[in-house]
Amino acid sequence: MSAMEWLYLVIGIAVLALVVVVGGLGLVRGRARATVEAPRVAPADVLAPPETGVAEPGETVPGVEVPPATVTPTLDRPERPASRLVRLRQRLAGSNALGRGLLGLLSRDQLDEDTWEAIEDLLLGADIGVQPTQELVERLRTRLRVEGGASGADARAVLREELINLVDPTMDRALHVSGSDGDPGVVLVVGVNGTGKTTTVGKLARILVAEERSVLLAAADTFRAAAADQLGTWGERVGVEVIRGPEGGDPASVAFDAVKEGVDRGVDTVVVDTAGRLQNKQGLMDELGKVKRVIEKQAPVTEVLLVLDATTGQNGLIQAKVFSEVVDVTGIALTKLDGSAKGGIVVAVQRQLGVPVKLVGLGEGPDDLAPFDAAAFVDALLG
Ligand code: GDP
Repeated sequence: MSAMEWLYLVIGIAVLALVVVVGGLGLVRGRARATVEAPRVAPADVLAPPETGVAEPGETVPGVEVPPATVTPTLDRPERPASRLVRLRQRLAGSNALGRGLLGLLSRDQLDEDTWEAIEDLLLGADIGVQPTQELVERLRTRLRVEGGASGADARAVLREELINLVDPTMDRALHVSGSDGDPGVVLVVGVNGTGKTTTVGKLARILVAEERSVLLAAADTFRAAAADQLGTWGERVGVEVIRGPEGGDPASVAFDAVKEGVDRGVDTVVVDTAGRLQNKQGLMDELGKVKRVIEKQAPVTEVLLVLDATTGQNGLIQAKVFSEVVDVTGIALTKLDGSAKGGIVVAVQRQLGVPVKLVGLGEGPDDLAPFDAAAFVDALLG
């Protein structure tokens, strides 16, 4: 190779090296910017990724100036509770097979023994329970005989009336979420893990916010690692603060701190999520007893809400009974009624525990929790 050729080769290599170095620097700069800018993305933005081809706030695109991002947290506006049961009516699709089945049988020309037996089977299959089933069949037999039954309209009116009586419209279903003498109302939420306790606390916070109450949540289920985070997410969406303690810490101390905070800040309601470990009755009694005792050093508990999964049938009822023996349950939140063909459990649980169903869970959506109402529920069952 001549000296000239050597020179060209060296120049060529030098130019190539320069291109590689400059390109690499650009890449590094790009990466560095991405790392710095990433934390500016607000939670809402994570759910709604930016459109492609549009400049990010703060980014410089030739000829375009995009102002720096200002993160304004947008809070959910929860649905007001009054209309929820009506809106969620179709979610009782599984259960309203019961209503349709009963109406079909009662509208037959001949209400013979086989028909009454089929009616009884339907009611038992819907988890209404033996005693209430017998009572209802007895009432229907008498009324439809005396009142000359069974044109479709008559049968429907009688059935509606008797089902409403069975669900008991006279029970006081008001949630006691207000305290007295300047104290916050304190709602203690108990139940077996997996029943939907934490979800119900989150949904309940939304109902309270929709009613313009100030709310604090206590993540006193310190045994399930995800529970506090889960509650944090629920709280964030509606601007409600969650008081939490160290994982595995003392649930009573979290409950105490939260209620103390609630008293100091003068909030309307503190909702306390608890651990639902069914280790044994004594252990449960000690744990929940302590939580309630320490809360009441600050303010009285105004509502003890037992969360029960409607799909668990008799087994769920037995577990619920254990809880009701341990704490003085004042209301039931019946969850997952959307996934159950067994709406009759409303009747069974009220009979067994002597406590009204106050709330029903009808889905996993944030506003899928509704105040319970006997007539609206029966109307939904009858389709
Ligand atoms: P916890 O262990 O009792 O606190 O239970 P979670 O609140 O974590 O809920 C357990 C599961 O049940 C979650 O997947 C919830 O989304 C679901 N869940 C809760 N309530 C309802 C409801 O009313 N309907 C349906 N379909 N799912 C529900």
